[in-house]
Amino acid sequence: MNIKSSRHSAENSHHSTPTTGNQGLVKDLNKAIVLNMVWRSGPISRADISRASGLNRTTVSSLVDELIAGGYVTEVGMGESALGRKPIMLKPNPQVGVIIGVELGVNFVRLIASDIMANVVARSELAIHPDDGVDAIVESMVNAIKSTAASVPPTLQGLIGVGVGVPGLVRANSGVLAFAPNLRWKDVSLRAMMENQLGVPVFVDNEANAGAIGEKWFGAGVGVQNMVYLSVGIGIGVGIVINGELYRGSMGYAGEMGHFTIQPDGPECGCGNRGCWETLASERAALGRAAQAIRDGRPTILARRASERLTVDELAKACSDGDEVSRRALAETGKYLGIGIAGLINTFNPDLVIVGSTVGCCSQLVLDEAEKEIRARGLTQLAGEVRVVQAALGQDACAIGGISLVLNDLLSLPKIAL
Ligand SMILES: [Zn+2]
Repeated sequence: MNIKSSRHSAENSHHSTPTTGNQGLVKDLNKAIVLNMVWRSGPISRADISRASGLNRTTVSSLVDELIAGGYVTEVGMGESALGRKPIMLKPNPQVGVIIGVELGVNFVRLIASDIMANVVARSELAIHPDDGVDAIVESMVNAIKSTAASVPPTLQGLIGVGVGVPGLVRANSGVLAFAPNLRWKDVSLRAMMENQLGVPVFVDNEANAGAIGEKWFGAGVGVQNMVYLSVGIGIGVGIVINGELYRGSMGYAGEMGHFTIQPDGPECGCGNRGCWETLASERAALGRAAQAIRDGRPTILARRASERLTVDELAKACSDGDEVSRRALAETGKYLGIGIAGLINTFNPDLVIVGSTVGCCSQLVLDEAEKEIRARGLTQLAGEVRVVQAALGQDACAIGGISLVLNDLLSLPKIAL
């Protein structure tokens, strides 16, 4: 259910028809303000909301009544008051409904269901293959969302919304996946397809943007105003937060540093270019280096396996078991990761760089090698002050980011038509 007659989202805007200037808009605005205050500052009294928001008490009371009726807000115990009056406190009702965050990977789909405070209530994962094609993959994703939503205890509002992070260029306003080289998808109206089948609002964003939002709301980036989030998987994506807001660029495609050319004659990339950063610093790059070493006949415990089936977790495991080929493959990957991060630091001067990744690619060895390059290549003063950390949400960053997209819409002010 929409709690507002029209909804606006700074991070996923133009989702619905804008409200025109009228009484309804004023009410929607005020209701969003009240819900925001309860969500962020609850337990809080009606009087405190009135004081902090400047809305008169009658207005606050009537809006609170509607939010209570919708199940979004509940009354709790008694608050303290110097005058001896004990106002009833308000807090958000986490269990009012379910939100599902989805990470669409190149070969997997990860789903996390949460309440409206982003407490995880269920999760599931399924394997996919790009050869399955758009329709089949979307269908499996939708079915998984339905069965995950059905697996949790019933709630008043049921499934409130779905947020999806995808590995490619997304027009976040329309939810169209314009181009995903690793999935080989082009111009897929993912939001429309999913909304048709699910009947709830669906928000689609680039997976690195989703990861950045997830870490900003619930992970290592809480309270950080300027940060760069790196998603290192089969490819590399970057989510850029400037002054507390995700930076999308003109069309929504900002952050494709994975395709920044690092080596003009380097390995071929899925985008058609050569020597892109992600061909040298991604999971695939690390596996490629190990496979090359095996072909070169270098002694390694990996040789027991067919190189095509090698996973980055196995690479990391072999490395920690002392395998030199694995160590070199990961260290070389870390080196290139650091070269790119140094460029990002020089460009954006962030407070924080968060590296989200699969376990193997994000091992301490990789980050240590990256740090060396950052110190060597970053402008010293700038680079020396930047913290580079692993994603606090780990592999959940993108899916939790999807949940954040829905929450952002739920809590955001209605869009004003100009
Ligand atoms: Zn490329």
